[in-house]
This record gives sequence, C-alpha cells and structure tokens, in this order.
Amino acid sequence: MTSADILTARLPSPLQEVTDDRFARHGVRLLLKRDDLIHPELIGNKWRKLVPNIEAAAGRPLLTFGGAYSNHLRATAAAGRLLGFPTVGVVRGEELAGRPLNPSLARCTADGMRLHFVDRPAYRRKAEPDVLAGLLRAAGAEGAYVVPEGGSNAAAVRGCRALGAELRGRAGVVAIACGTGGTLAGLAAGLGAGQRALGVPVLRGGFLEAEIRRLQEEAFGGRRGQWSLDERFHFGGYGRTTPELDAFAADFEDRHGVRVERLYVAKLLYGLVELAREGALERGTDVVAVLTA
Ligand SMILES: *Cc1c(COP(=O)(O)O)cnc(C)c1O
Repeated sequence: MTSADILTARLPSPLQEVTDDRFARHGVRLLLKRDDLIHPELIGNKWRKLVPNIEAAAGRPLLTFGGAYSNHLRATAAAGRLLGFPTVGVVRGEELAGRPLNPSLARCTADGMRLHFVDRPAYRRKAEPDVLAGLLRAAGAEGAYVVPEGGSNAAAVRGCRALGAELRGRAGVVAIACGTGGTLAGLAAGLGAGQRALGVPVLRGGFLEAEIRRLQEEAFGGRRGQWSLDERFHFGGYGRTTPELDAFAADFEDRHGVRVERLYVAKLLYGLVELAREGALERGTDVVAVLTA
C-alpha cells in the first residue's frame, strides 16, 4: 500500500449543496466542499499537501516548522504515527521550551513528534541555508526531509491540483481561506476553463499575492488558472476574531449543521456572505466554499 492508501478516508471529498437565503436571494447557489471529511486525523487540506511530501521523503525523518497552534504540525505528527516515520517539529518561540505544552503541541508529542523550540529571530531566518543547517544539527535531524512552514512547497502545491480537478465543471467560483496560499495555488491550477478561485487570506499583510505567484512558478513554471484574493476578511490577523465573527460562525453552524472551524473557515464563510450581500457574485453563479477543516 502507498502512503496515500493508508491515509485515505474519503476522496474525492463530498460536495454538498446548502440552502441559505443570504445567497439564494441574490440568485447564487452555495455548495460546501467537505475536505474536512477527507481524514479523521489529518486536518483537511493538510492531507492534500502532506501526502506528496511523505512520498518524496521515502521514510526519512520529516522535519517541519510551525507556531504553537499549527494545524500543519499536528497533521505531520499524526501522519508520522500512522505511517511510522519519525517527525521533528521546529516551533516558533524559545520561551515555550520547558513550559507545559498547550493541547496542540501535546498532541504532537503524543503522536511521537520531537519538538525543537527556537527563538523568533532564528525562526524568521529558517529558510536561509546556513540557519537551516544549524537548526537541523541542533535538532539532531541531519538528513531529514525538510518541509517548509505550513507545508507549502512545489510538491504540496501540485498535490492540491486534485482539489481543483474534483470540482471541474461544478461551479463558477471556488472560494478558500488562505494561510500560506499553497492550497489556492494548486486549486486554481486544477480548475477547468471558465472557473475561478477566490482566496480569503486570514493573515494580515497583503504579501500573499506575490507568494502565490512564486509558488505557482516553482510548482508549474508560471501562473496557472484564474485566481484572485479578497484581503478584507482577516479580522485583525491569524488567530484573531471578533464577537461578530464568533456569532456569525455559531449561526452558520446552527443553520447548516456543520462545524465551522474558527481560524480559517469562519473568515471564508463570512467573506462569502458579505460578497453576496454586496452583489459581487453574479446571479446564476454556483459558489463552492472549501471547508478545509
Ligand atoms: C492550513 C489551513 C489553511 C490554509 O492553507 P494554505 O495552503 O496554507 O493557504 C486553510 N484552512 C485550514 C483549516 C488550514 O488548517
């Protein structure tokens, strides 16, 4: 069996129409792409990004990076346990070392991930070859296969093309929340003619457009598919929320009986409702919201 077989629960992930008058009154249909159902332990789109990297690592230890609440670290640790390869997580924040672990990092260590804490200046420079070499040495992980923060490299982006391919011919607009932008970069490349991808960044900063271009260049040799970003719905940045956003997410859960993940998916759905309200989604359009977790 390949890694993909062992880790597969449900592909293609289900596509489910929901009736929501905030869209219906503008002549727009809303569909949910249930990537949250792909695998019970590998969080949503992290599955699509990890599998090609696990295959490339070919059993070597996999070392990757993340913050103290990183979904990507969690998914990597779970994959390591399920497939039996060693994992090392480089965690931003030296001050976390020696303190009780938060539930997310505790889960990582329970799954066998070795954690290595680094200070913020070193963490920022982690992609520089000499800094990376030093980190690998300090973590006792020379020879490890290195996956960048958030899991977005060329292999991951190519893996996410399948998400677009599963949606070919199914909707005019496919919307997704973005962290590193790797999933959007692959999704857009996999969609068919006449379909477009819309990204809702959950981080502040406006750097993502250039980053997605770079990822597509690296993965495919140039820009692929039609995509754009709407930068208005980050609610102050990663991990930030407002009472209004929380109320919105709780209400969406009540209306549709789906869990709304708060770091990414709540902001995506809020943005889509706002775009419908503004009349920015053309009448007769089918819009897919990807539930990445
Ligand atoms: C990581 C993550 C994303 C963002 O994926 P990127 O490829 O980094 O843009 C979106 N939703 C959820 C739930 C995630 O965990």
